[in-house]
Amino acid sequence: MPRARSNERHYMTKFSDLGLNPLLMRAITEEGYETPTPIQAQAIPLLLEDKDLLGIAQTGTGKTAAFALPTLDFMLEFPQKRRARSARVLVLAPTRELAGQIAESFRTYSRHMDCNVQTVFGGVNINAQRRALQGGADILVATPGRLLDLVGQKAVSLQEIEVLILDEADQMLDMGFIHDLKKIVAQVPKDRQTLLFSATMPKLISDLAQQFLDKPVRVSVTPPSTTAERVDQGVYHVSNNDKLELLFDVLNNPEIDRALVFTRTKHGADKVVRKLLAKGLDARAIHGNKSQPQRMKALDAFKNGTCKVLVATDIAARGIDIDGISHVVNFEVPNVPEQYVHRIGRTARAGRTGLAVSFVAEDERYFLRDIEKTIDMQIDVLKAPEGTKVDLLPTPDPNERLYKPKGPARGTGGRGGQRRPPNSSRPQGKGKTQGTGKAGGKPGSRSRGGKKRKLEGARG
Ligand code: AMP
Repeated sequence: MPRARSNERHYMTKFSDLGLNPLLMRAITEEGYETPTPIQAQAIPLLLEDKDLLGIAQTGTGKTAAFALPTLDFMLEFPQKRRARSARVLVLAPTRELAGQIAESFRTYSRHMDCNVQTVFGGVNINAQRRALQGGADILVATPGRLLDLVGQKAVSLQEIEVLILDEADQMLDMGFIHDLKKIVAQVPKDRQTLLFSATMPKLISDLAQQFLDKPVRVSVTPPSTTAERVDQGVYHVSNNDKLELLFDVLNNPEIDRALVFTRTKHGADKVVRKLLAKGLDARAIHGNKSQPQRMKALDAFKNGTCKVLVATDIAARGIDIDGISHVVNFEVPNVPEQYVHRIGRTARAGRTGLAVSFVAEDERYFLRDIEKTIDMQIDVLKAPEGTKVDLLPTPDPNERLYKPKGPARGTGGRGGQRRPPNSSRPQGKGKTQGTGKAGGKPGSRSRGGKKRKLEGARG
C-alpha cells in the first residue's frame, strides 16, 4: 500500500470573515471546522447576497455546508411560522443516501436554532412521509420521484419555496430525472434563490442552469485531477480469478480503518461480501437491491466501526459521506474515468488524504489507461501484499496496444442500469421555468415573500 501524503492545503479565508450568524458559527466550531473549504469561501458570501449559483464541485469539497450555511443564515434573519404541508427550502438530490446525508448536515448546522428538516425519498412507505409533512418543514430534502408523488397526493405544496437547491444535478440527469426536475421547478415560485451543484458541466447541465437559474455566478472547485492528486493511488495487475483472494489479503492489512470496496454490479457486491464473510472478515454490501433498512444498517455498522469493509456499487455509494474512509478498493476498474475520480474521492474528504487501490485484470487495462489520461498521471504498480499466495500479473508494457473490450458496457457509469427516458436530454423552452402549474402560472404572481423580495426589503 502506498503511504498517505500529508495534507499541505491551506485555506486563506476564515469562517469569521464570512459574516455568518453566531448560532451557525457555534455549530461550525463544535463540528471542528477551522477554515472554510475553497467552495465555502467562494460561495457563502455570494449566497448571502442572494445570488443564484452554479457550483461545479464534487462530494468531498464541503459543498453541503457551502449551501446549507447561507440558507440557514437567511432563515435566521427572516424567521417565519411554519405552514402546514409546506416548506421554505427545497433540496433535490439523486439518491436517498445523499438526501439523508444532506438532511443530516442541515440538522448539524442548525442545532442551535429552531429548524425542522424533513427528508423524503422513494423505496420506503410513503405514509410516514405524508404524516411528517403535515406540520410543514423549514427544509425539505427530497429525491425527485417521491417528491412528485407527495405533491400529487397534496401532502406537500411547493408554492412557498424560497430557496431551491439542486445537488449533484449531473447525477440526477444521468438517472433520468430530467422530466421530474422540470415538473418540480415549474411548481416553485419564480421569486426564489436557486443553486445548482454538479460535479461535471456537460452542455446539458449548462442548458438546464440557463433555464432554472437567474444570472447565476459560477463557482468551480477541485477539477477531477486535483482530487486525484490528493489521493495516493496504486494498481495491482491481477487476473479476474485471483481478485477475491487478493482482496482478502489486501483488506487484512491492520492499517485499514475503513475500506470502501467498489464492484461493478449488485451481484458482484454480494459475491464479494459472501467470500469475505466465509473467510471470517466482516463486510456488508449496499446496493439498489437492498431495502432501505438494510442499507441503513450496513451504513451504521460501517460508520460506528463495527464493520470495517463496505462493498458498494457506484450508485449506492453516491453521496455516502463517512469520515475516515482510509482505503478505497476498486475491485473492478470503472470504464468511465470520472467515475474513478468520484470513487477515489471518497477517501479524500474535505482536504484529507487517502489511499486508493485498483485491481486491474487484462481486459481492464484499456480503462486504466483511459483513467490515467484523464487524471494526467501514471498510477504506481504495487507489489503483492505480504504473505499473499496470489501471483500478480507482470507489469504490462506501457506501449502495449490496447483495444476497448467489446460486449455490454461495463456499466460503472453513474446510471447504475437505469435507462434515461427518451427525449430526456434536451431541456425545452427558454428562460426560467416557473409557476406554470396549478396556480395559473402568471409570472411573479406568487411572490408573496420570496427570498429575493425579503432581502431587497431589508436593504431598501
Ligand atoms: P461534502 O462535500 O459536503 O460532502 O463534505 C465533505 C465532508 O467535509 C463532510 O464530512 C463535512 O462534514 C466536512 N467538512 C465540510 N466543511 C468542512 C470544513 N470547513 N472543515 C472541515 N471539514 C469540513
